[in-house]
Amino acid sequence: MDILTLKSKVKLGCIRCEKCCIYRGDIRLIPYNACKISKYLGIPIKEFIKQYTDRLENNKLELVLKTIKTEKQCILYDEKIKGCSIHKVKPMQCVMFPLVPENLKRDYFYNSNQCILKDVKEITVNEWVNGNNKIYSRNKKIYLEWIRFIEWAQEKLNILTNINSDELDKLYKILFEDYNLNKWNLKSQMRKNMFKVERFIINKYKNQ
Ligand code: SF4
Ligand code: SF4
Repeated sequence: MDILTLKSKVKLGCIRCEKCCIYRGDIRLIPYNACKISKYLGIPIKEFIKQYTDRLENNKLELVLKTIKTEKQCILYDEKIKGCSIHKVKPMQCVMFPLVPENLKRDYFYNSNQCILKDVKEITVNEWVNGNNKIYSRNKKIYLEWIRFIEWAQEKLNILTNINSDELDKLYKILFEDYNLNKWNLKSQMRKNMFKVERFIINKYKNQ
């Protein structure tokens, strides 16, 4: 498996074969995605979460996009345009596909080779991941913060015995729903919410 950096040249392009948006496995959302997509769709965040997302199993405090039909098509795929209906605000996994992060901090990737294209020019990885409204470079820091947070939270939740489903609902709500979408500081709202959940988990842990 070759490790690619932002400067590496790869044959990448898109012929809208639809493969991006069916049988893709879980497309994870960070809370910032949920905010941006809700704003883009013009609906309250609570409504977006109810209509368009599922929780990951086993209380993982993570949300994924719902899939529909037998071919597990992403609920946000638009059949008329044969493409993503939220292109400008799509999640990081979708921005990078078919590239997969090997080490996001260092901008290392590998090519999953799930997008097989003939007769396309080579472009740099940077052009590919940042061509989509620079979602990669603008959001990498908050993604890394989320990854660190969720790995820590999962480790603690796996050993906590004194947490019930109402409390987990509350944690989901803090992480994914408690936002003022009319304010510009969505990333700092997300950081505050992660901190609140962290305090809650630490207290539970101490009182176990
Ligand atoms: S799999 Fe490749 S060609 Fe097909 S829609 Fe995705 S990026 Fe485009
Ligand atoms: S968010 Fe958009 S690009 Fe990603 S799987 Fe759904 S429809 Fe496809």
